[in-house]
Amino acid sequence: MNTGPDIVAGGYVVMGLVSLAVAVFLVFLVRGRPHRVTPACPRCRYCLTGTTSTTCPECGHDLTTSGVYLNGRRRWPRLIRAVIVIVIAILSFLPYRYVTQSSWRYWAMDTFGGPQSWTGGATGIVKLDPQQCQAVEVTIIYPDPEHADLRSATSNGDIYYWNPPEPVRLMMAQADGSRREYVIEPNSNDPQRWTIQRVQPMFGPSDQALSTDPVIAERLEDFYRVISERIDRDGTTPPGDDPGPRVAAAMAEMMIRVMLAETSAYPTYPFNDSDMSAVIHSDVNFTAKKGATIPHVQGNWFMLASWFLFWLIVLLIVIAPGSPTDPWEPEPADPGANSKT
Ligand SMILES: [Zn+2]
Repeated sequence: MNTGPDIVAGGYVVMGLVSLAVAVFLVFLVRGRPHRVTPACPRCRYCLTGTTSTTCPECGHDLTTSGVYLNGRRRWPRLIRAVIVIVIAILSFLPYRYVTQSSWRYWAMDTFGGPQSWTGGATGIVKLDPQQCQAVEVTIIYPDPEHADLRSATSNGDIYYWNPPEPVRLMMAQADGSRREYVIEPNSNDPQRWTIQRVQPMFGPSDQALSTDPVIAERLEDFYRVISERIDRDGTTPPGDDPGPRVAAAMAEMMIRVMLAETSAYPTYPFNDSDMSAVIHSDVNFTAKKGATIPHVQGNWFMLASWFLFWLIVLLIVIAPGSPTDPWEPEPADPGANSKT
């Protein structure tokens, strides 16, 4: 038996009835109720009909300064009205969030742009010992922002999925401030086959004389050796002397494996090689985003702001001072007194 939709619909009906009752009650808070007797003393509510004095005959209240109850309506004290509105506002927050948060999220995405994070994206960073390595920091990014095929990303509602394998960018920051960057691209027909070539740095000055010098790893098993040899070729030390390229190759291989397995952050420490471990100056910081949808501006802020603004306006209306009293104009002491002379 499927009662789910009925329960949800019933919930909305109850919510609608409660909202209607609250709205009626708020109108009552603003309007107040008419005075039972008029004109009346505002302190003791004694009926002043026929009174000619400027003070209340019942309690002695000075009616010229306070005025009397006549046309105005009697409302609850202002502090009580304010507290009631604040309590209703707080109670309304969760239902309001439940009903509106998805529409605010879509509105924020439509207005300010869609998801920034692409599922499957990942970054790995490690710092190296500048005494032993030419590179002081190695960064590996999946997918490479310049070479990833945007057209291959499929859109599912608001979430874009990369279709691995995508190109990966390897960035090596050198101790002298220069950068060496490589793009590692999969072969479209054979996911085991990878092309590694040097590219112009994404940020910073480009090197006109840069030789891309691509090499191919035929199998993932060759990947580490091929890429470390390729990077070594761009260094100034004899091949194998600098452990940096091997760390970079290991980072790249780890990234490729994370991508192909479509897993999230890699759980194991990848460097068993003591030569490599000795030069690593930081934890291998490997973060992967999968399935996260982060709009440029969070819809929750608009949900919160609209709720706050609405109740602020309601509060101001409810506590706005009315004119509960009218000036006291006593009846003439003797209506016939003037005509007698
Ligand atoms: Zn009185």
